Amino acid sequence: MKAQIIDGVALAAKVKAQVKKDAENFLHQFGRKTGLAVILVGDNAASQIYVRNKIRACEENSIQSFHFCLPENTPEQQLIELIIRLNSDPNVDGILMQLPLPAHISQAKILSYISPQKDADGFLAVNAGNLMLGYPGLNACTPCGIIEMIKSTGQAVDGKQAVVIGRSNIVGKPTALMLLDLNATVTMCHSRTHNFANFSRHADILVVAAGRKGLVTGDMVKAGAIVIDVGMNRVDGKLYGDVDFDSVADVAGYITPVPGGVGPMTVAMLLKNIVTAATALKL
Ligand code: NAD
Repeated sequence: MKAQIIDGVALAAKVKAQVKKDAENFLHQFGRKTGLAVILVGDNAASQIYVRNKIRACEENSIQSFHFCLPENTPEQQLIELIIRLNSDPNVDGILMQLPLPAHISQAKILSYISPQKDADGFLAVNAGNLMLGYPGLNACTPCGIIEMIKSTGQAVDGKQAVVIGRSNIVGKPTALMLLDLNATVTMCHSRTHNFANFSRHADILVVAAGRKGLVTGDMVKAGAIVIDVGMNRVDGKLYGDVDFDSVADVAGYITPVPGGVGPMTVAMLLKNIVTAATALKL
C-alpha cells in the first residue's frame, strides 16, 4: 500500500475538541448551551441509529439536544407546526429533520419551513444559494467534512484537477462548488457520464459519492491522487465504500477508509454548524 490514510476519526476528534471549546465559550458568554433539535418521523432503523449518534455527539460536546420522535402517521401539518415553534424557540439554534420522511409528507415542503438561520444540515435553498454565490451561510455537513479531509493532507487545491463522482444536492454538487471556491478545476461525473474513468484518471483530487460498492478501482485513479470515499454501502451487515480500497491504496497518495473516514467528519461538521448558527443568531 502506497497511500497515506486520512483518518476521519482522528480528524473528527480534533474538530469536535474545538467545537466543544466554542460551545463552552458560548455558554459562558450567553448563559445557555447551544441547542440542536432533532426530528425523526417513523421508525426507519438506519435513521434511528443516525439520530442516536448525533444526539450522543451533542451531549459529549456541550451542546444541548432536543429530541422529537414522531409516529409514522404524523400529519404534515403537525410537523410544520413543530418546526414553526422550534424556529422561534430561543434555546434552539439548529433544526435537523432526519430524512427520509414517510411518503405522505413532502420533504421539499417540510424543509422549506425551517428557518435558514437554523438549517443545521445546510440543505435549504437559501443556504445552497449562498454557497453557490460565495456568501456566508450554513453549508452541508458531508461536503464540509470532505474539504477538511482534503485540507488535512497539506496538499494545495489551487489549480488542481478535481473530479467529483455523484451530483446529489447534499454531497456531489456542494462538494464541487466548494472545490471550485478553492480554485480547483472541477469536473462532475454521474450515472450518465460515459466512462467516468476517462476523467477520474486525470484527477489530482477524486471525490466518490455514488453509493455503488467498489465502483472505483486502482486503474481508474491517478498516481498520488487524494481519494475521498463518501460511499456507505451496507452488504450483509458490513459497511463498504464506493472505492475498492486495496487496489486504489496502491496507486493513490492519500485515501479515506470506510468506515472511519467521511462518516465521523459529517457528524463533527454538524456540531460545528450548530455553534456557528448559535453565534450568528447572537450577532
Ligand atoms: P444519491 O443517490 O443522491 O446520488 C448518487 C449520485 O451518484 C447520483 O448523482 C448518480 O448520478 C451518481 N451515480 C450513481 N451511479 C453511478 C455510476 N455508476 N457512475 C457514476 N455516477 C453514478 O446519493 P448521495 O446522497 O449523494 O450519497 C452518495 C453515497 O454517499 C451513498 O452511499 C451515501 O450513503 C453516502 N453518504 C455518506 C455520507 C457520510 O456521512 N459518510 C453522507 C451522505 C451520503
